[in-house]
Amino acid sequence: MPTLTRAEAADRASLVDVESYHVDLDLTGTGDTFQSRTVVRFRARSGAATFLEFEPVTVASITLNGQPVPHPAADGQRLALSGLAEENELVVDATMRYSNNGEGLHRYTDPADGSVYLYQHLFINNAGRVLPSFDQPDLKASFRVSVTAPAEWTVATNGRLVSRDGGRWEFAPTERISTYLASLIAGPWHVRTDEHDGIPLALYARAALAEPLDAQAAEIFEITKQCLDRFHQMFEIRFPFGHYQQAFAPEFNFGAMEYPGLVVFRDEFVPRSAMTETEREHRASVIAHEMAHQWFGDLVTMAWWDDLWLNESFAEYLGARVTADATRFTGTWTTFALHRKGWGLRADQRPSTHPVAPAEVSDTDQALLNFDGISYAKGAAVLKQLIAWLGDEAFLAGLNAHFEAHAYGNATLADLLGALSKASGRDLSGWAEVWLRRAQVNTLRLEVQRDGDVYREVAVVQTAPDGFATLRPHRIGIGLYDHTDGAVVRRELLEVDVEATGRTVLPALAGVRAADLLLLNDGDLAYAKVRLDAASAAAVPLLLPLLGDSLARALLWASTLDAVVDGERPVAELVTLVLAALPVETETVIIEDVLRATRGLVDRYATAETRPAALELVAQAADRLLAASPAGSSRQLAAVRGLVGATTDTARLRAWLAGDGVPAGLAVDADLRWLVLYRLVVLGAAGPDTIEAELAADRSATGEQWAARCHAARPEPAAKQAAWAAIVGDATLSNRLIELTALGFWHPEQRELLQPYVERYFTEMPEMMRLRSGMSAEKTTLAAYPAVMVSARTRELAAGLLAAPDLNPILNRVVQDSDDDMRRALLTRE
Ligand SMILES: [Zn+2]
Repeated sequence: MPTLTRAEAADRASLVDVESYHVDLDLTGTGDTFQSRTVVRFRARSGAATFLEFEPVTVASITLNGQPVPHPAADGQRLALSGLAEENELVVDATMRYSNNGEGLHRYTDPADGSVYLYQHLFINNAGRVLPSFDQPDLKASFRVSVTAPAEWTVATNGRLVSRDGGRWEFAPTERISTYLASLIAGPWHVRTDEHDGIPLALYARAALAEPLDAQAAEIFEITKQCLDRFHQMFEIRFPFGHYQQAFAPEFNFGAMEYPGLVVFRDEFVPRSAMTETEREHRASVIAHEMAHQWFGDLVTMAWWDDLWLNESFAEYLGARVTADATRFTGTWTTFALHRKGWGLRADQRPSTHPVAPAEVSDTDQALLNFDGISYAKGAAVLKQLIAWLGDEAFLAGLNAHFEAHAYGNATLADLLGALSKASGRDLSGWAEVWLRRAQVNTLRLEVQRDGDVYREVAVVQTAPDGFATLRPHRIGIGLYDHTDGAVVRRELLEVDVEATGRTVLPALAGVRAADLLLLNDGDLAYAKVRLDAASAAAVPLLLPLLGDSLARALLWASTLDAVVDGERPVAELVTLVLAALPVETETVIIEDVLRATRGLVDRYATAETRPAALELVAQAADRLLAASPAGSSRQLAAVRGLVGATTDTARLRAWLAGDGVPAGLAVDADLRWLVLYRLVVLGAAGPDTIEAELAADRSATGEQWAARCHAARPEPAAKQAAWAAIVGDATLSNRLIELTALGFWHPEQRELLQPYVERYFTEMPEMMRLRSGMSAEKTTLAAYPAVMVSARTRELAAGLLAAPDLNPILNRVVQDSDDDMRRALLTRE
C-alpha cells in the first residue's frame, strides 16, 4: 500500500469527518478475488477535495452523492474525490484481491483438509485492500458489515451478529473505531462459546485444530474471565465492545491483534503438541495484553502513530501485571525481566533506536518499524518505573480520567500526561522529557569500598553511551544477599533514588555488614543496564544456583548475558556458568531463555575453531538438566529442546525418532519429531526422502511449515539454491512459508556452502522488497540475514548496501541493525 504521511493525515482530518462504513462482501467466488460493495457516509468542508485508500483489481462503479465518479479516479492505490458536499455518500462496487502475506483479506487453504479460511488484517495501512476507506487512526467511524459466504461457514466480525439466512450474514454497526481495527474472520471454523459477567465469549480455530482447542479451551476461557474481572476492578469503564471473541488464525503476522470484540491470535497459540509452562504463560499474557488494548488503543486511540506507545507500552505493562495478579502465572514479572526487557534493551542500543514517544513519526512505513522492543518492552519498563515514583493509586486514577475524557475518540501524549499530573499533583514534564522523548539506555554500576567486612561507601555510578548525554533519575531496589548453610537468602531490600548525575552515594549502606551478593535493581523496578560490583560478580557462579528467588536469578542471568553481548566478558565464561548453574535451574523461562541466548552467542561470538567445544558444553548442560528434570515436566521439555538444538550426537537423535532411549515421561510428539529431524538435517544426517516421509505422515499446517524449514536447511547446493530462489523470488508462497524457509537457511555448520549467499543477500534483497511488504517483508529480510557469517567482508557488503540511494526503509533498518550486531561480534572475536 502507498505510504500515508503524517502531514497528509493531518490535512485530511481537518477536512473530513467520517460517520460510517457499510461493507458488503461476497466471498463465494473460488478464485483469488472477492466482491466488495461499500457505502461510506462522511461530512466534509463544502467544495473540498480529498482521497481514500483503495486498491481494487477492477471497479464496477463509483458514485459520489448519486453522481458517477470516473474510474480513472481510482489509480490502483488511492481514490481521489473532489467537489465534496457537506454531507456525502460514496458508493463503490469493486473486485478486490485476497492476500497471502497476512495483510488485507488473507486467504489460507489448510493442507490438512483443503478447507479455506479467511481473516482480515487491515493494520497498519491495508484497509484499502478490502474497502475504500479514510485509513488513519483519528478518522474513526462505525462499521456495519454484511457478508455472503458458503452456507457451511462461520463468519464473525467486531459487531454482533444480527441475522443469518443460509449464506448471508448481517452484523450490527460497531461503536466508532479506527479503520485499522475493523476485523473479520470467515471459514469453517471450529467454535467454542461461553459467557462471563454478561459478556458472551467465543473461541475460533481451524477445524484441523478442533482437538487441541477443545483440550485447551477451559484454560483459555478461565484466563479470559480472570483478566476481564481484573480490568473491571481497575477501570471504571466496563469492557466497551459487547462480546469478547478470540480467534486463532493461520499465518498471522503478529502474535495477536487487539480488534475490538474479535481479537485475532496466531494459531501457534493452540499447539497440537506438548507446551511448556512458559508457553502457557506467554499465551495468558498475550490474552491480557490484547484485552488491555480494548481500553488502550480501541476505546481511546492514539491520534497518529507517534503515540504508538499509548497502545503498546500500556498493553505490555498491563498484560504482564494482570497476568501476574489475576492468573496462576504469578511469575510473569520474571519472564518480563529476562525475556521481554532484554528485547527492549537490545533494540534501544542499536542504530535504529528511537524515543518511546517520538515527537514525530513521518509516515506509515516509519510507524511500522516502531513496532519493536522499544515501543513494547522499554515502554512498559518505563511505566513500571513511573509507577514506582507516582504511586499506583495516582496512576490508576489518571488512567480512568483519561478514558473518561477520550472514550471512542483519540488522544495524545500530552492528554495522558495531563491526566496523570492532575491525579498525582506532580508535574511530569521533566520526567517525560528524559524517559519518553529521549532514546537509549543508561548503565548503572555498583562501586563498593569496604573496611574489612563492613561497607565504607557504596555508590551507584551512572553512565550514558557514547554520543548520548542524558542521565536519568531511577527509583531502584538493592538487595543484600548472604550465603549461609548452602542457601543464598536476602537479608534486606533497600529502595533508593539514584539521581540524574554520574555518581549517587548510598548513605544507607555505610557501616552495614557486607553481603556476599549486592544485587542492583533487585525487584526490577529500573530500566537500565546493570553491572554488579567486582566481588558480587565474582561470586555469581557460586551463588546463582543457590539463590531461591527466581526474579533475582533472572536479573543475574540478564546482567551476565548483557555483559557478554557487550564483549565485557568472554562467551567461554558464559558457557561455563551455563554448565554450572543451569542443570539445577527450576524456572522454565530461565532455562529456555538462557539456552536460546547462549546458542545465539556461541553461533556468532565463537569462532569456527572454538564453537564446537562451546556448543558441546551447552549440550552437556542441557543433558544434565534433562537427567535432573521430573518426567513429563516443563523443565524436561525445555531441556530436550535445548539439547536437540546443540547436540551433534546424531545416533541418539535417530534413536529418539525410532522410539528408542526416549527419556521417561517425554512424548516424542509431532512437533518434537520435527525439531529432532530438523537438527539431523542441519548436521547432514537426514535427507529429502526422510523430510518427505515425515510430511506424508503429517499433512498439517505445521507439518508443511516444518518441511519448508527442513528443506532450506539441507547442506546441499541444490537445496540451498531452491530455498534461496523461493526467498527472493517466489510471490506465490505465503508469508509464513517464506519466513520459515528463511529461518532454515543459515547455519554456522554450513559456512562454506553458504558463502556465496552472503553477497547475494546484499545484491538481491532490494529486488525482493518489490514482492513483499509490511511485516512479512521485515520478517523475511531479518530471517534471511547472514547473521552467522561473521566477517569483515559481510560488514563491507552491508555498508555498500546502506550507501545505496532510495533503499527501502524496512531493508535499511534490518541491515543497519543486523550489521551493528555483527560489529559487536567481530569486536569480541578480535
Ligand atoms: Zn499490542
